[in-house]
Amino acid sequence: MSTLDQFRKETHDWLVANCPASMRTPQKRSEGVYGGRRASFPNDDAKLWMDRMVEKRWTAPDWASEYGGGGLSAEETKILAQEMEALGCRKPIVGHGFWMLGPALLEYGTEEQKLEHLPKIARGEIRWCQGYSEPGAGSDLASLRCKAEDKGDHFVLNGQKSWTSDGDKADWIFCLVRTNDEGKKQEGISFVLFDMETPGVSVRPVPLITGESHFCDTFLDNVVVPKSQVVGEINKGWSVAKALLVHERTMMSQIERNMPKPKFSTIDYAKNYLPLNDDGTIKDALMRNRLANHLMRDQSIKLSQQRAFEEGMAGTFDMRVSTIFKYISTEEKTAKDSMVADMMGMTGAGWDTDRFTFDEYTKTYEWMSNKALTIAGGSSEVQLNLVSKRGLGLPEK
Ligand SMILES: Cc1cc2nc3c(=O)[nH]c(=O)nc-3n(C[C@H](O)[C@H](O)[C@H](O)COP(=O)(O)OP(=O)(O)OC[C@H]3O[C@@H](n4cnc5c(N)ncnc54)[C@H](O)[C@@H]3O)c2cc1C
Repeated sequence: MSTLDQFRKETHDWLVANCPASMRTPQKRSEGVYGGRRASFPNDDAKLWMDRMVEKRWTAPDWASEYGGGGLSAEETKILAQEMEALGCRKPIVGHGFWMLGPALLEYGTEEQKLEHLPKIARGEIRWCQGYSEPGAGSDLASLRCKAEDKGDHFVLNGQKSWTSDGDKADWIFCLVRTNDEGKKQEGISFVLFDMETPGVSVRPVPLITGESHFCDTFLDNVVVPKSQVVGEINKGWSVAKALLVHERTMMSQIERNMPKPKFSTIDYAKNYLPLNDDGTIKDALMRNRLANHLMRDQSIKLSQQRAFEEGMAGTFDMRVSTIFKYISTEEKTAKDSMVADMMGMTGAGWDTDRFTFDEYTKTYEWMSNKALTIAGGSSEVQLNLVSKRGLGLPEK
């Protein structure tokens, strides 16, 4: 047996022995575990599962062991992911620290910053949020104005961040601030980290269409941030910001894989909600066409992602491709949600669990909340601009 086959067997056996049965069932959105100082768990098994994975160092399996990771190779990490998927294991913990800040720190952080922050992410002790957008600086992010005044060994921050997801639940924030007003706007930005409990930080949740609120406006009023908490060089934070966006977009393009496995496939929805011919085919030719097109596109995206993953392991992956994946995956996901809603007819607008099944309600919820996917992390239009400019080298105007 090869070393990797041996690793697969041991991984499988360990997961079977340690992943509680309830953590191998489809997960509701509300059951996600994000860790942090105020960590909450949907039940005792979720905490047990996170604790066991933390102890095994498999919450960040490919990070080096000194940073709290499992030190696994790319192949071993893939095997772990495959075995978890095959057994239906839930992700023990997720969040901005794992998806975005961790990978950016590994690339740009000082050794002290890595040793300080990565193990706390891996152990689920600190939950992070992202302070990029501002009123007037979303797509045109480099126009951000949140001011950082140089006071020698520290900066004093003043300004507002908008759309801070889970800003009211996070412990620390990674934030873009303006440290220089002169010259090209991209060249006066710095990437800073600070505790959300620092005096002068306040958050205000913004209500959404789903009735929930996961967004916040974040206000910074004379917030003191030591210079040791700047990641990368002062005024060169744009490079760190862009690298982090690649990780964010990659995570978003794998949104289906990162989400709990749905109980029903699109074909199940078609069978359950649409009139069928005697031979089992969908009566409505337009809907049949729509479903077939979706299934083909979905399969092509999955195969392309698999190829990109293999290229990543071989060290030949072109990071610019993450923009294409972010665009195509999120557009397809929202198109699929709309198609399923149309298949379900009035039931696809179910907004309570008295008159509708829990699955119907969840579908309506997903249809509404997933509309944000083509905006978050950079809108579809902006991704297309990036593909045309950086990928195809087309002129901007
Ligand atoms: C679910 C969700 C979570 C988010 N979480 C966070 C977070 O945690 N932290 C954070 O900092 N931000 C977050 N954001 C903000 C997100 O990054 C911005 O919404 C996004 O970058 C778009 O910026 P905007 O909302 O200001 O829209 P605008 O930039 O005002 O754009 C408005 C419209 O104009 C279009 N547009 C703008 N410029 C161009 C152009 N040059 N060419 C063509 N079309 C253009 C856009 O595509 C869009 O349709 C989140 C957003 C969402 C939806």
